[in-house]
Amino acid sequence: MSTTHAVHDGHTHVHGPDCGHPAVEHDDHVDYLHDGHAHRSHSDHYDECDLDDVHVIAHPHDHQHGPDCGHDTVEHGDHVDYLHDGHRHAPHDGHYDEH
Ligand SMILES: [Zn+2]
Ligand SMILES: [Zn+2]
Ligand SMILES: [Zn+2]
Ligand SMILES: [Zn+2]
Ligand SMILES: [Zn+2]
Ligand SMILES: [Zn+2]
Ligand SMILES: [Zn+2]
Repeated sequence: MSTTHAVHDGHTHVHGPDCGHPAVEHDDHVDYLHDGHAHRSHSDHYDECDLDDVHVIAHPHDHQHGPDCGHDTVEHGDHVDYLHDGHRHAPHDGHYDEH
């Protein structure tokens, strides 16, 4: 998939400081992590942004995600994300990443 200018269609949500999605500083702009995608505001729509080179660590929490933890899971590429309070947490090397 091209990462140059992939418009995310049908997006009615407006991202902002209080929208609850993790905001990630990425070079000269901010991306919002939304359902496993990185959305970058671009005039009146959002573009998909490629955050493969950015590592966003979730706030530390005592909860251990696992098969029986009760959180819903969603497949994301080669791993599984846990849906946790509106965030997607992916286990990574002793901590969780925001995805
Ligand atoms: Zn949002
Ligand atoms: Zn979005
Ligand atoms: Zn970006
Ligand atoms: Zn969990
Ligand atoms: Zn979590
Ligand atoms: Zn990590
Ligand atoms: Zn993920």
